[in-house]
Amino acid sequence: MSGVEGSAGTSARQKRALVRLYAPRYIGRMAKGWTFQSLIDAKMAVTAHCHNSACHHRQVLDLVKLGDRFGPDAPAMADDLIPKLKCAKCGSKRVGLIYTPDTTPNAYGKAKDGR
Ligand SMILES: [Zn+2]
Repeated sequence: MSGVEGSAGTSARQKRALVRLYAPRYIGRMAKGWTFQSLIDAKMAVTAHCHNSACHHRQVLDLVKLGDRFGPDAPAMADDLIPKLKCAKCGSKRVGLIYTPDTTPNAYGKAKDGR
């Protein structure tokens, strides 16, 4: 029994050491979710759409430009971006975001050519 207690103590100490090692970088990034740079790296497209039923404006966000303005490591989840956004057409603050994986004409054309 005393042997079990001893090994449990050791593993708890090891766990604590690992958490301290990884915490600043990875846990911080995971809690934040997407950043502008990680969206660009993952080739995600973020489309903003206006909730104003008389407008329905849609626009793909320029992630490179936004990353330049807010910083590539700035959080870029919907909850982070929506307060910063305003419909370019009607000025409404009721904007929604859609995150979609790579659907650029480039990738589509490549897949077609490879056929
Ligand atoms: Zn609008």
